[in-house]
Amino acid sequence: MEFIGHILIFPFPAQSHLNSMLKLAHLLDLSNFHITFFVPSNIHARLLALTDVDSGRFTTRFRLQSFPPGIYDGALDSKEGLLELCHSLHTIGKPFLKQYIAQNHDSGLPFTCFISDLLVSIALDVSEECFNHLPVYYFRTISACAFWTYFSLPDLFEAGELPIKGNGIDSSPITKVKGMEDFLRVRDLPPFCRDEDMAVLLYTETRLAVQVRGLILNTFEDLEGPILSHIRTKYPKVYTIGPLHARLKATLASKSTHSNSLWEEDETCMAWLDSQEPRSVIYVSFGSISVITRQQLMEFWYGLVNSGKKFLWVMRSDLVAGKDDEESPIPSELKEGTKANGYIVGWAPQEAVLDHLAVGGFLTHSGWNSTLESIAAGVPMICWPFFADQQTNSRFVGEVWKVGLDMKDVCDRSSVEELIRELMEKRKGEFLERAENMGKLAKEAISEGGSSYCNFDCLIQDMIKVNEATRELL
Ligand code: UDP
Repeated sequence: MEFIGHILIFPFPAQSHLNSMLKLAHLLDLSNFHITFFVPSNIHARLLALTDVDSGRFTTRFRLQSFPPGIYDGALDSKEGLLELCHSLHTIGKPFLKQYIAQNHDSGLPFTCFISDLLVSIALDVSEECFNHLPVYYFRTISACAFWTYFSLPDLFEAGELPIKGNGIDSSPITKVKGMEDFLRVRDLPPFCRDEDMAVLLYTETRLAVQVRGLILNTFEDLEGPILSHIRTKYPKVYTIGPLHARLKATLASKSTHSNSLWEEDETCMAWLDSQEPRSVIYVSFGSISVITRQQLMEFWYGLVNSGKKFLWVMRSDLVAGKDDEESPIPSELKEGTKANGYIVGWAPQEAVLDHLAVGGFLTHSGWNSTLESIAAGVPMICWPFFADQQTNSRFVGEVWKVGLDMKDVCDRSSVEELIRELMEKRKGEFLERAENMGKLAKEAISEGGSSYCNFDCLIQDMIKVNEATRELL
């Protein structure tokens, strides 16, 4: 078969980023590209142990490659953890990539382009030093609305709207993000914006990406068109190709895609869902990174039990911060309420859960993958954002797309109960109708002739062109 290109893929090493990147890699593999996919050694080991990345999913054109040991593998729920990871990727990952590309040069399968995630500065530095200036594509695995907010942060500093002062709930307007002037508030910004170092890191990487050959976003035009038109004034080529998981499912003509989970999925919840009434269950998950306090856990738990609704809750083993009061007993009314109406797992096959007819709502931390998976499945949301892009995503869910309720920075049992009742009972029809309509638009986007379908084809054509141009330089 003709060689059409060898793509170096460098995801940010966290569950959600890996998930989207592996899906993109799968679609590129099916389009006949060679791919080398770089991950830290701990993630390499977990993917080999828990998934089929190395056993049958991909063709032999795909290679999973581990970075040398030493990349930070601790928690990512704090500034310190995130900065340490970025630092180790710069000091260990970057030199390794340079060396790897150079060694690969004479292999007969030279790299012809680079797909990078969050840390585009690494990709640009590496590319700069390659004698053929490997073209870089930036697959930013967050929403367009959060991406554009990050891009706009310097304007907010200049206008004195940042840094955020204090720790309280602040509903003052933010006026300097174009396209969001009428509804964005301080509390809809990433909490990182209280910290200048983090804000600078985010907007620097985002703005550096104006140099890349193409910006790839896991979204679709009918969802984020107005914000995308602002992004397009700064980035020459924007490829919206989402929802990727739905596109991959359609391409594979299967009900579910392959799991990329770094935790073992508990499939037993599917049988439990099978025994529930249609649209009766609220699914609860706060993603892979969020950490909550014991008190917050209790407020959510009471809210869920007191709502009287059926619930399926993902309680990761590391979800709750601190182990001090781990031993304190769970009150009997919660135990009884959970036995009657709930089901708790350590990690769920989330895409399949959201696609299950019994699920009528999703209490989510508003991570972009979760949001998009919910939108594609036509499931309305209650949003309790933790950090990063999630605060902005949840504002769009509640205020712009109107496919859910934005609980935001509130967390007490009566609010949890009230919002569940509102979503699952009082305004159920209205939310379901809007969410199902949005789900239809998502499906249209990834179907033949749809915007994401066509944009993916354009991306492939561009990568083939890049391959020809890059190889002429070799
Ligand atoms: N996920 C899963 N099982 C779970 C919880 C989450 O498979 O029990 C997946 C979910 O489908 C999503 C990803 O983990 O693709 C979480 O990504 P998201 O962007 O929502 O949040 P993050 O983990 O980055 O905070």
